[in-house]
Amino acid sequence: MERYQGILAYCETANGKLSPLDTELLGTGSQLATELGQSLSALLIGTDVGAIASEPLAYGASKVYVVEGPLFKDYITEIYLVGLAKVISETSPEIVLLGQTQIGRDLAPRLAFRLKTAATLDCTALTIDPATKRMLMTKPVFGGNAMAIQMCEVSPQIVTLRSKAFSPPVKDSSRQGEIIKISVAIDPASTRTKFLERKTEAVSGIKLEEAKVIVTGGRGIGGPEGFKQLEELAQILKGAVGASRPPCDNKWVSDNLQVGLTGKIVSPKMCIAVAVSGSSQHLSGYSGAKVIVAINKDAEANIFKVAHYGVVGDWKKVLPVFLAEVKKLVS
Ligand SMILES: Cc1cc2nc3c(=O)[nH]c(=O)nc-3n(C[C@H](O)[C@H](O)[C@H](O)COP(=O)(O)OP(=O)(O)OC[C@H]3O[C@@H](n4cnc5c(N)ncnc54)[C@H](O)[C@@H]3O)c2cc1C
Repeated sequence: MERYQGILAYCETANGKLSPLDTELLGTGSQLATELGQSLSALLIGTDVGAIASEPLAYGASKVYVVEGPLFKDYITEIYLVGLAKVISETSPEIVLLGQTQIGRDLAPRLAFRLKTAATLDCTALTIDPATKRMLMTKPVFGGNAMAIQMCEVSPQIVTLRSKAFSPPVKDSSRQGEIIKISVAIDPASTRTKFLERKTEAVSGIKLEEAKVIVTGGRGIGGPEGFKQLEELAQILKGAVGASRPPCDNKWVSDNLQVGLTGKIVSPKMCIAVAVSGSSQHLSGYSGAKVIVAINKDAEANIFKVAHYGVVGDWKKVLPVFLAEVKKLVS
């Protein structure tokens, strides 16, 4: 029998529930498990995660490992790393899936080092190579200008999955499975990090990641005042405002609004890009957008290569007319 068997999905959870990305991890894990003829397990770590231990079963897991205790109240790298490494050492999965989140990005390389294996971050597609039965992992490289397909020759194969790149499965609450508690003993004095405070930024309106319509503004908007007009359009369309990197760097808008390679990955039905040039780093953030509308004064701007509809012109003249038409249509 192979030493490594099965797939383990680490579900970070959010506000006491599985996050949308957790369900995407479970859906992908389920597909890989089917292709390999192996099983999918989930791992939950936290203080009260036992309360939602049956949730991953409904999304395809057949076992759920629960690591619980007061030490896991807040995310501290060293503590979570010990928890995760212990479960992996005891269960020897062939594949470990994590989300491409702050936590996933923090844990995956450390975990790989500790387990003497390798981690592949920010994957957008995963399949099984029929010949070797190892994972073929697709990920953007060179700032999103090319896609690389990689294979890891050591086990366990650790990967982080980009949010919205994988479809979540249909929930089936009738699915049954095993819930297994694993105790992890850690001496708090052995950690060099202390959790001091959590500062939550208040977000009003629809979250960027969940918005069906996104109005993104670029450097050409010129300042925070211009973004107020984008907000008006977003509100009418029941959407959210996003931004390219320069407006965030210039503090015209919050960093939270940045879309792109180093910002958020979104997949709206429609994205209206205003005064955005369309750099590959920005576009890789909304590669999942079904329809892209661009307003730019430069007819040669890269954004027009990907836009389905475009207006060449000064946004200050185009947007008020566009807004008036949208208002008429909506009313
Ligand atoms: C490693 C790395 C990671 C990065 N990550 C990101 C990321 O996550 N997200 C991101 O956005 N960028 C990212 N960048 C930066 C990226 O390379 C670009 O510099 C950035 O996306 C450009 O933003 P922009 O299109 O708003 O600005 P510009 O490229 O300056 O374009 C401004 C556009 O506005 C138009 N314009 C100006 N005035 C008007 C007007 N009055 N009316 C209409 N149009 C007008 C111009 O014609 C131009 O096309 C990253 C870069 C690197 C190196």
